[in-house]
Amino acid sequence: MSLTPNQTPAIQIAHVSKKYAGGTQALEDVSLEVENGEFVAVLGVSGCGKSTLLRIVAGLDTCTSGTVAVMGKEPSAARRDRDFGMVFQDPSLLPWRSVRRNVAIPAEIFRDREVLARVPEWIERVGLCGFEDALPSQLSGGMRSRVAIARALVFRPRVLMMDEPFGALDELTRADMHRELLGLWNEYRPTVVFVTHSVAEALFLADRVVVMSPRPGRIVAQTPVPFARPRSDHVRYMPEFARLGDTILQRLRDQRTE
Ligand code: ADP
Repeated sequence: MSLTPNQTPAIQIAHVSKKYAGGTQALEDVSLEVENGEFVAVLGVSGCGKSTLLRIVAGLDTCTSGTVAVMGKEPSAARRDRDFGMVFQDPSLLPWRSVRRNVAIPAEIFRDREVLARVPEWIERVGLCGFEDALPSQLSGGMRSRVAIARALVFRPRVLMMDEPFGALDELTRADMHRELLGLWNEYRPTVVFVTHSVAEALFLADRVVVMSPRPGRIVAQTPVPFARPRSDHVRYMPEFARLGDTILQRLRDQRTE
């Protein structure tokens, strides 16, 4: 059966395993498809291979066996075509560049004037108005994360890969960023893969929560998240939110003892 481009999942991960050169088996037979415009959260304990999986999907590392396609292409081709935006735990800003010039990096690399013109808007959207000329060393950890998010989104990428992007933020700022991110996602519906340790964060943001086992990482559960969108903070206090959170947490606990 041939599929039209719209029916092809944005991300197709098939039987991916990864063994590092030192012998660490990080991933074992991971298969996952993410639909166009879907928001998937990947949950698992520290060291279970979540970042390894993201890096492989982003073409920053290779798998030992299995295949990965992003927008129907090899990850490296998707990267060249600017299909990706990435936000890591570490914001990786250039210390000598101002906020404005850090957010502008992708636009400068690709010499895209239209994207360059959108830089001030994105600085505003992540709440950094007034800090355009500040250097990373003058910002808090949370503000640095916001710069990284603006830099990833300025291209409006079709696929957004986020590796614990809000891990360094305080709870209130984190909740603000959740609302912001959902607002942005709702606006143009990129496909999002969001790695997190937090069950509540995964449930609030995602359409589907994928649970991984401890190393070697395997997918052990997938839970659709039923809450209607747009979601407000009210969702966090719904009995169903607590119930689903408990079920997922139990799944994670089971993994520890299996
Ligand atoms: P997570 O993101 O879930 O915390 P990682 O993907 O970072 O997990 O790591 C999975 C496992 O692979 C860990 O045991 C880690 O020590 C190991 N690992 C990660 N990167 C490398 C590497 N470059 N070389 C060798 N081992 C690695």
